[in-house]
Amino acid sequence: MKTPKDQLSLTLNTSDQIPQLGLGVFKVDDDVCEQIVLDALEIGYRHIDTAMIYRNEAAVGRAIAQSGIPRDELFITTKLWNADQGEETTPVALQTSLDLLGLDFVDLYLIHWPAPLRDKSVASWLALEQLRAAGLAKAIGVSNFEPEHLEQVLEAGSVVPAINQVELHPAFQQRELRAFQEPLGIITEAWGPLGQGKYELSELPGLTEIAEAHGKSIQQIVLRWHLQEGLVVFPKTVRKERLVENFSVFDFVLSEQEMAALVAMDADRRVGTHPRDGNW
Ligand code: NDP
Repeated sequence: MKTPKDQLSLTLNTSDQIPQLGLGVFKVDDDVCEQIVLDALEIGYRHIDTAMIYRNEAAVGRAIAQSGIPRDELFITTKLWNADQGEETTPVALQTSLDLLGLDFVDLYLIHWPAPLRDKSVASWLALEQLRAAGLAKAIGVSNFEPEHLEQVLEAGSVVPAINQVELHPAFQQRELRAFQEPLGIITEAWGPLGQGKYELSELPGLTEIAEAHGKSIQQIVLRWHLQEGLVVFPKTVRKERLVENFSVFDFVLSEQEMAALVAMDADRRVGTHPRDGNW
């Protein structure tokens, strides 16, 4: 895909570009989702992160179709749900997602959770490799994988995951996992970048002062920190004014000192499910 010149992007191990900032649509109801994605596309967002389990792929698809934006200017991610893991069920699940999205291919297809108790992530990964070879997913990756889960797919497969999408925010920075996967060229995507609203970002020491210094909100500072850390990030909102706010992060730069202050906010504070427990 072509990332607009005024946005930031990273290069995947497929050589394709991924816009670093997008919109996530977890917990966005199907009826609200179409309009919020349309609004986002109008504002300039070109990257949408959905999943089969969010039950809003059809709404995302309707918004894409209505927007009239050429397909090669969009980056669309969806994810394989746990119950669909397996050699034979994975291709069916992707085709269902594509039909709902009204697309011929997704830019990125992820295994949503390793779901270790199901023990099907390796079989699913091998199926994803086939789907990539068939052109149905331009890039493939994983989500919520710990190093031990990554090692299993690396050993069994012949394609290195392009992405690992994991919980990551200032109070939970995933330094060890990132140190493991960076030498492998696996890009980290941050879910819950605003802590899912489960803790007050204003409690993080020094964050309010940094925001005031830049005339930005604390959320904009946190999102800018993600971008400068080399992460991919897609905050969720159902409010148009916040879509604009979350996208207005390309016109300022955090200093080295400010970046260091945010790094020091790491507190091993996970707010979501641990990957070993995501076996639904
Ligand atoms: P976020 O950290 O993006 O937080 C979303 C919350 O923050 C919502 O309550 C939203 O409220 C609020 N919010 C958004 N923008 C602002 C703002 N500028 N100021 C104040 N509050 C704001 O959490 P998510 O869990 O949604 O994570 C983002 C995306 O990551 C998801 O949508 C999904 O695509 C992906 N994800 C993936 C997971 C995985 O297992 N792979 C798990 C969880 C998420 P409001 O909508 O009212 O504005």
